[in-house]
Amino acid sequence: MRFSGAKAFFIIFLILSQTILPQNKFGIVIHGGAGTILKSNMTPEKEAEYTAALKHVLETGYKILNDGGTALDAVNAAINIMEDSPLFNAGKGAVLTEKGVAELDASVMDGKNLMAGAVAGVKHVKNPINLARLVMEKSPHVMLVGDGAEEFGKEFGIEMVDNSYFITKERWESYQRMLKREEERKKAEKHGTVGAVALDKNGNLAAGTSTGGMMMKKFGRVGDAPIIGAGTYANNKTCAISATGYGEYFIRLGVARDVSALMEYKNYSIDDAAKEVIMNKLSKLGGDGGIIGIDKEGNITMTFNSDGMYRGHFLSGEQPVVKIYKE
Ligand code: ASP
Repeated sequence: MRFSGAKAFFIIFLILSQTILPQNKFGIVIHGGAGTILKSNMTPEKEAEYTAALKHVLETGYKILNDGGTALDAVNAAINIMEDSPLFNAGKGAVLTEKGVAELDASVMDGKNLMAGAVAGVKHVKNPINLARLVMEKSPHVMLVGDGAEEFGKEFGIEMVDNSYFITKERWESYQRMLKREEERKKAEKHGTVGAVALDKNGNLAAGTSTGGMMMKKFGRVGDAPIIGAGTYANNKTCAISATGYGEYFIRLGVARDVSALMEYKNYSIDDAAKEVIMNKLSKLGGDGGIIGIDKEGNITMTFNSDGMYRGHFLSGEQPVVKIYKE
């Protein structure tokens, strides 16, 4: 077989581009909530269950990215799995308000064009992150709440469920215990929000967060998860961030946007920016929780000041990693 010069050059170029030249890095980082997550409180079975669930989420998100899908699709799919799992405080398994009802918040942001969508206080939407995405893509608004959000979702055929779908036996029992005991209530700040951030092969970043909020929250209370800039932020110039923790503090600090701003204006690395905001600013204010993030080069952060955070990452050229406790 004989090659012309041009053909040979092309083949060599192809081989080189696949092997020697750096490929665009891509990957996904997820969290399943931060809080009082101690090894001493965990059974081996529970631990294995969480680990398997998080790994499955990572693999699903990674596959989308590896197949050339968008960061937004990877984030959306990852969050859907955690919303459908009773293990996490989002979708099924959400915590309850003081009235014993599940009220869900979610948001999503596309780093490519700074488009964002959010919903708060929805009570019948099976996957709130899907509705947040619809708000972003099909409405001129960023945030819809309560009945209005649900009515908008119905127009687009979003899946609706009875509120009882969200309430697992475990959550109902802990709600009943807390109703009786004020002490239990104080300890309760049950976290378990879910979030995902991703970088796709085209260099686009996206972030999403979905939650039932905080156990025993006031009817109508909205946390940081649906607030763009607090619980969720994505900008291709800097990073994609999703937060979990005591939402009021994250709102007051504008946590997710603050991390991005430190990178944009002060040239911080993603991890240094995350440490500054979580370990320094959030801790000083008295808040607890954490964030996950990925930047445009595929550097990541998983920073928290609580006892633990369900978390993991799956980056191109690497294996999936899942962690639960403080290192
Ligand atoms: N950040 C959520 C909220 O305040 C709760 C959590 O992450 O556990 O609604």
